[in-house]
Amino acid sequence: MTATDAPSAVSPSSFDWEGAFSPQARRLGSSAIREILKITQRPEIISFAGGLPAPELFPIEAVREAANTVLSTYGAAALQYSTTEGHLPLREWLAARAGIDAANVQIMTGSQQSLDLLGKMLIGEGDVVLVEAPTYLGALQSFNPYGPQYVQMAADEEGIDLDALEEQLKTVKAKLLYAVPNFQNPTGRTLSLERRQRLVELTARHGIILIEDDPYGAIRFSGEPLPSLYELSLKMCGGPERSHVIYSGSFSKVLVPGLRDAWVQAALPIIRKLIQAKQGADLHTPTFNQMIISELVETVMPAQIERVKAVYGERAQHMMARMDAQFPAGVQHTTPQGGMFLWVTLPEQIDTVPLLEQAVKRLVAFVPGAPFYALGGGHNTMRLSFSSATLDQIETGIAALAQTIQEALD
Ligand code: PMP
Repeated sequence: MTATDAPSAVSPSSFDWEGAFSPQARRLGSSAIREILKITQRPEIISFAGGLPAPELFPIEAVREAANTVLSTYGAAALQYSTTEGHLPLREWLAARAGIDAANVQIMTGSQQSLDLLGKMLIGEGDVVLVEAPTYLGALQSFNPYGPQYVQMAADEEGIDLDALEEQLKTVKAKLLYAVPNFQNPTGRTLSLERRQRLVELTARHGIILIEDDPYGAIRFSGEPLPSLYELSLKMCGGPERSHVIYSGSFSKVLVPGLRDAWVQAALPIIRKLIQAKQGADLHTPTFNQMIISELVETVMPAQIERVKAVYGERAQHMMARMDAQFPAGVQHTTPQGGMFLWVTLPEQIDTVPLLEQAVKRLVAFVPGAPFYALGGGHNTMRLSFSSATLDQIETGIAALAQTIQEALD
């Protein structure tokens, strides 16, 4: 008899792990959608569900060379523990680009970590957090354990509806506003310049912290670039120490996601608290990865961004053209100018959760929209990702989806 199959004298039944979880852990929740989406990973299925950057565009050779250069240049230091703030040359590069001091830049392990630690630092039980409807699911997952009270902001094709928000703020005392102004995940929408200015001004006036999550900003394939909320706040509020905007950037979509490198730009009190929170979380972002990224930002990243923009732009155009040609009347989609996603709204009578099961039978998958709403809604919506499907797959997949929708309407 081995130790593992010996009858246990101390534990007659299995341990009550469910009862052991903290109140915060209980709020993590589980996603029914995740279970359905597991099926969509089957190779025969054309998936518009995942939010993955196109792997065939990853600059593998450049990463290999950068890794070699880093090991020759830094030796053991590349593999040693390092400061929580992050690799100074990388922070200096980011700071110069933003016209701020390196002290206002903190390197993070993916912008998902930024959201988690900012949630931990800023959200107390019952604090009102304003979110777009729909919003990035991963932000809700990060914020939920800290017990926020969400208030949804209405949005249209130009992003957050500022008139509606101004009205809401007359009665709602909010602490924090979370927004993805560029090519939002999940809708692909972009906040217009006029609304950006109003949003910065309005939140400043009400003393609301503004978290600007911007992993897609550089991936603009049409239209004119717009200033970030952070950039506007520097001008409107008078410099980094007076800004109420916390900017969250990421190298995941402009270089590679697997190195898990991202950053936060904010006023010093936020950076100082973030350093404490990060020490408890992971001490620092992997030294080696930061150094590799630092090697690539000047040499490879500009051309990489151009490549990604060209490919995603072509895929988005193709997807929209096929949808316009084949989707039944009454189905609407957003027209993203960048990023990786677009959003489809179907007639009211269609629920996209059962629709996904039908779509999978036709070997195509998407993400139903409802989970992206903090407070419910969106049963007739879906998110489609155009970043990692080929033009042929888009052709076949959209035709299959059009048939699935038509069948549900019949
Ligand atoms: N914010 C948004 C809006 C995202 O879409 C993502 C990635 N899906 C993240 C943050 C997290 O990205 P990362 O941790 O790779 O920087």
